[in-house]
Amino acid sequence: MATSQRPPSTGIKVIIVGAGFAGLTAAIECHRKGHEVLVLESFPELKLLGDIISFAPNSGRIFQRWEGVDAKLDPIIHKSGGILYKSWKGEDITRQTWGEEAKKYGKAYNGHRGEIHEIVYEHAKELGIDIRLGHKVLDYFETETEAGVNVNGERFTCDVVLAADGVRSKGRTIVLGYEDKPKSSGYAIYRTWFDSAVLADDPDTAWMVTNGDKHCAWLGPDIHFIAASIKNGQDFSWVCTHKDEADVEESWQAHAPLSDALRVLEGWDPVVQKILKATPDPLIDWKLVYRDPLPTWISPKRRIALIGDAAHPFLPTSIQGASQAMEDGATMAVCLSRSGKAHVQEGVAAFEGLRYERVRAAQKTGEDTRNQWHKADWDEVKKNPESMKLKRDDWLLNFDAEEYAEKNYAATVELLKDPVAVRQLNVPSMTQVAASA
Ligand SMILES: Cc1cc2nc3c(=O)[nH]c(=O)nc-3n(C[C@H](O)[C@H](O)[C@H](O)COP(=O)(O)OP(=O)(O)OC[C@H]3O[C@@H](n4cnc5c(N)ncnc54)[C@H](O)[C@@H]3O)c2cc1C
Repeated sequence: MATSQRPPSTGIKVIIVGAGFAGLTAAIECHRKGHEVLVLESFPELKLLGDIISFAPNSGRIFQRWEGVDAKLDPIIHKSGGILYKSWKGEDITRQTWGEEAKKYGKAYNGHRGEIHEIVYEHAKELGIDIRLGHKVLDYFETETEAGVNVNGERFTCDVVLAADGVRSKGRTIVLGYEDKPKSSGYAIYRTWFDSAVLADDPDTAWMVTNGDKHCAWLGPDIHFIAASIKNGQDFSWVCTHKDEADVEESWQAHAPLSDALRVLEGWDPVVQKILKATPDPLIDWKLVYRDPLPTWISPKRRIALIGDAAHPFLPTSIQGASQAMEDGATMAVCLSRSGKAHVQEGVAAFEGLRYERVRAAQKTGEDTRNQWHKADWDEVKKNPESMKLKRDDWLLNFDAEEYAEKNYAATVELLKDPVAVRQLNVPSMTQVAASA
């Protein structure tokens, strides 16, 4: 169904807290399904924040359902067709290409977070979705018959609140009944995005930014450095994941001097050193926090749900955080359509049932990839260089969240009535749902 073909109103009022990719996707998908949407975002204005972000084919298909969005995204996304893996010393390990994957699963979208976000935000505005900036939600409430939020003394009520308020979610407190404390993952990421012209002038780095986009990962003990050029080599971005026990702040605005990265990457491939020396100072310093999987994403009265990073922060090595945030939004929109206004609590519970296990499995891929890269036995890698490639699992990429929710909604609702299934798993397993569908 294209965005313009909107069904009649369901009468379901949804308040979405946060206009990141989880919030905006939920807003657009709920609008597509005929629900009434209000988005409250704390940022007072839209800014081009962030750097590289990745959307795999499982979320690419969601963008493609939104009229005109693929055409706007296409010119700004990375287009190398593959990634070259090197050791930290600069030896080639192997190359992984995306041609077959794109044919099988569809298009991936990797580009500047702020630029992609702006396109999605503008699409939501064009649809007429009510997005109010400068609205910081600190207080959530629910009763058996309604839910809502307070913003600076103003009270907003609705049928369902979706807390899409990111890694530092305030919505978690009402859902969990306690304040959830993040802890250090033991890693941090230096990140940057800049004009590539200076790299084109140096023969050692020119290959990264000429004759189209390039993507290269340098892998070493407990550190990896991934660089990509974008927009036909014109822009350049790199990220470096490294050990860091410093603190658990998780802010996209925090900075670190370039000298910190030079120290961490001392002795690495001279090409990496040259890239560092061409990088503007300072870097973004993103401390990666870890949270144990939440026992639940939905409130006691099942009218408030956490979605996106608020429910499940991802390690970047999963390359799935933004995709799973989008899948949440698409799934919730279907669940509310299927439940109808009189039974939204059933829809909210089904959302969790449909999503929980898949998301947990997707999160785990990030831990696996980080271990595969950071703890590699380099003698074994020489014998089997393919072992360093990213796993591109069919169950993860060959997935349509909207279709899956439509197909498995009824079975999930049935399973949630079974106290044994709920007790054993907290939520039904995808295999169970698929088998009983
Ligand atoms: C500024 C910024 C830059 C980022 N840059 C990158 C990047 O370069 N690369 C990358 O891979 N990931 C980046 N991320 C994270 C990435 O967008 C998410 O991990 C992923 O897309 C999941 O999105 P989300 O919507 O769940 O969370 P987020 O993208 O974090 O969105 C949450 C939104 O909720 C808003 N919010 C938070 N609290 C409140 C409140 N109390 N009331 C109202 N609104 C609230 C926030 O302002 C934000 O817009 C960035 C996130 C942010 C916020």
